[in-house]
Amino acid sequence: MSEVEALLRPELRGRTAYGAPQLDVAVQLNTNESSYAVPPEVVEAIVGELREGLSGLNRYPDREFTDLRKALVGYLEDRSGVSLRPEQVWAGNGSNEVLSHVVQAFGGPGRTALGFTPAYSMHPIINETLGTTWVDGQRDAGTFDLTLESAVEQAKGADPHLVFLCSPNNPTGTALPFDVIEAMLEAAPRAIVVVDEAYAEFARPGTPTALSLLERHPRLIVTRTMSKAFALAGGRLGYLAADPEIIDALRLVRLPYHLSVQTQTIARVSLEHADRLLESVDAIKAQRDRLVTELTAMGLAPVPSDANFVLFGGLADAPTTWQALLEDGVLVRDVGIPHHLRVTAGTPEETGRFLEAMARLVPTHA
Ligand code: PMP
Repeated sequence: MSEVEALLRPELRGRTAYGAPQLDVAVQLNTNESSYAVPPEVVEAIVGELREGLSGLNRYPDREFTDLRKALVGYLEDRSGVSLRPEQVWAGNGSNEVLSHVVQAFGGPGRTALGFTPAYSMHPIINETLGTTWVDGQRDAGTFDLTLESAVEQAKGADPHLVFLCSPNNPTGTALPFDVIEAMLEAAPRAIVVVDEAYAEFARPGTPTALSLLERHPRLIVTRTMSKAFALAGGRLGYLAADPEIIDALRLVRLPYHLSVQTQTIARVSLEHADRLLESVDAIKAQRDRLVTELTAMGLAPVPSDANFVLFGGLADAPTTWQALLEDGVLVRDVGIPHHLRVTAGTPEETGRFLEAMARLVPTHA
């Protein structure tokens, strides 16, 4: 063990850092970003407002990001029909940061968090690196569904301080029914229940958002991001909605002025152009549905998806197929589920490139 490793917190020793490979490949379908560039008129609007604000960079940004919170409330009301107050909204540099605020405030040493694997792998990482004990609950091994009975039983067994649900779930793609969320609030009576809705805008029609449950449940937190549907992964803006008392708790752990002037401006102006930025969502959903149809036709086993990606099974050896796709210029994600890979829905051309490469591989890889 090196001198530095000996000084590291024991629970961090031997760990590897989270992160998908960032490779220079023609078709990048591995991190569920949007393939669509920010439209020129939105770029212009952002640059205009940034320019106006630049001479004020000698001052710290608005610590309470007041205008941005109002804009987020407006967006949620427009799109989800749920009326919130700005005091119910919190934001950070990506939803990963707001998730870490939640764990800093409500988790930590001596506390337990429950999630249902396979789900977003940063949920356990954020918890464990902050000292929370992670309980790896399970989904149905075949369908990846989380049934109400199974969720309740696992929650009662763990009696957690935090529960992480992901709807639509990454990497499996499916959304959770409301009754599972409400049953978790009941079965884990001392827990903050987080519903990670990073992919909510891609859900199939009729999929409810947990935002509408907030009024009834003060222990519920719904997290969202501008990284996916808004095509703003590089802007780093994630947010959550919850009871104002929860927001007050998050203020205790956030670093002062965590949202820079640039971040607040980019996010706020982008929200003003929400309709334009979200225009690509329908095109992405069409490619997602195309992936499910065509992978099924190839004899593979895609999981139905409410997100901008598809998990598919039926591969003899997922790492071998991942490598073969890479050699064909297509980067997808090996999420560590045997015989499965995850592919992001890209533009029609990118999705076509992936499907053509897969069709070539199926005879020897399926
Ligand atoms: N939640 C889920 C389910 C995700 O898949 C991701 C990104 N892959 C995030 C949160 C974090 O995204 P960001 O920090 O860019 O908002």
